[in-house]
Amino acid sequence: MATNDCIFCKIVKGEIPNQTVLEDENFLAFNDINPARKIHVLVIPKEHYDSFDVIPPKIMGNMTAFIQKVASKLGIKEDGYRLITNIGQHGGQEVPHLHFHILAGEYAGRLTGEQLK
Ligand code: AMP
Repeated sequence: MATNDCIFCKIVKGEIPNQTVLEDENFLAFNDINPARKIHVLVIPKEHYDSFDVIPPKIMGNMTAFIQKVASKLGIKEDGYRLITNIGQHGGQEVPHLHFHILAGEYAGRLTGEQLK
């Protein structure tokens, strides 16, 4: 998808508002608009990558460190959290700009979403 049409690129550019949790030069963490748990934060790279499947491993390393900082800021490290990224159609990805979901603040459950048959 062209980045001009991407809603998360629009959030990065400030064209769509967001509730920022943490930001640095390369990454942004913000509250999910439709939270699935008490705490539901999305973490994105500011640069557009369609999904985890195409992010360069070196950038993913930096993103890992950023996600760990977000978890510290949210105060969820002791109780734990679920980290999810959906990839493509079968992964259930709706927004084609790489994002990790941080679900926390209560037990995430054995699986999220529909049960497998
Ligand atoms: P996924 O199904 O993994 O692509 O998840 C996309 C997520 O983006 C969903 O949890 C949506 O609630 C969330 N979302 C969509 N638009 C916005 C927005 N403008 N601000 C915050 N979260 C959003």
